[in-house]
Amino acid sequence: MAKSEESHHAQSGRYNVTQRRIGIFGGTFDPPHLGHLIVADQVRDTLNLGEVWLVVANDPWQKSGSREITPAAKRLEMLEAALDGAPGLRASDVELEEPGPSYSFDTLSMLQQRMPDVAWSLIVGRDAAVGLPTWHRADELKEMAEIIVVNRPGSSEPLPDGWKLTMVDMPALEISSTDLRHRLATGASVRYLMPDPVINLATAWGIYRPSE
Ligand code: ATP
Ligand code: MG
Repeated sequence: MAKSEESHHAQSGRYNVTQRRIGIFGGTFDPPHLGHLIVADQVRDTLNLGEVWLVVANDPWQKSGSREITPAAKRLEMLEAALDGAPGLRASDVELEEPGPSYSFDTLSMLQQRMPDVAWSLIVGRDAAVGLPTWHRADELKEMAEIIVVNRPGSSEPLPDGWKLTMVDMPALEISSTDLRHRLATGASVRYLMPDPVINLATAWGIYRPSE
């Protein structure tokens, strides 16, 4: 094959083969758990991404008002403890630079502007993917990046039409922060559901214990 033909072929897909690909995996991470880590690692490995950034949401608009959220700095610290320097995975504080609610559209636009050579994609669990059409500036978000969706137990509603969704299969893990907060509040065991350093921080801070 002629050299020019070969390089044309290499660039004819959605990605330039030499382009760095980073997956953005946003969450509240209150607290981070094994499900989050396995999503990030499986997606990175399956799609051969250079990195996955676990982005801590500042004041998550979908949740504010319904319960007290642990301060972002503590959630970031727990996430860093959970990752413990794992290769290719990174805890990101990009959404903590500005106060107020964080939207995936704004975060992606900002990162695309700051690092234009990177092909950014968004990673979401299936439950989150179902709600995509309700997200801030959904019509633009839909056009702007590949969305990677991982299966999640308990989510069976149809996925939205018209989005560029890439499905990644992983072992189904019925672990949620909601359940872990409940366990920590009632003194039930969380061992093996979240990394030991996260258990130690949450316990030392007493953040999920009911306030008297
Ligand atoms: P909460 O119960 O407070 O909503 P959560 O466990 O859903 O917490 P989030 O921080 O809300 O965690 O989720 C961040 C992202 O991780 C979302 O896209 C969510 O779908 C995904 N996710 C969380 N847990 C799992 C899991 N066990 N399997 C697959 N995806 C998951
Ligand atoms: Mg959730």
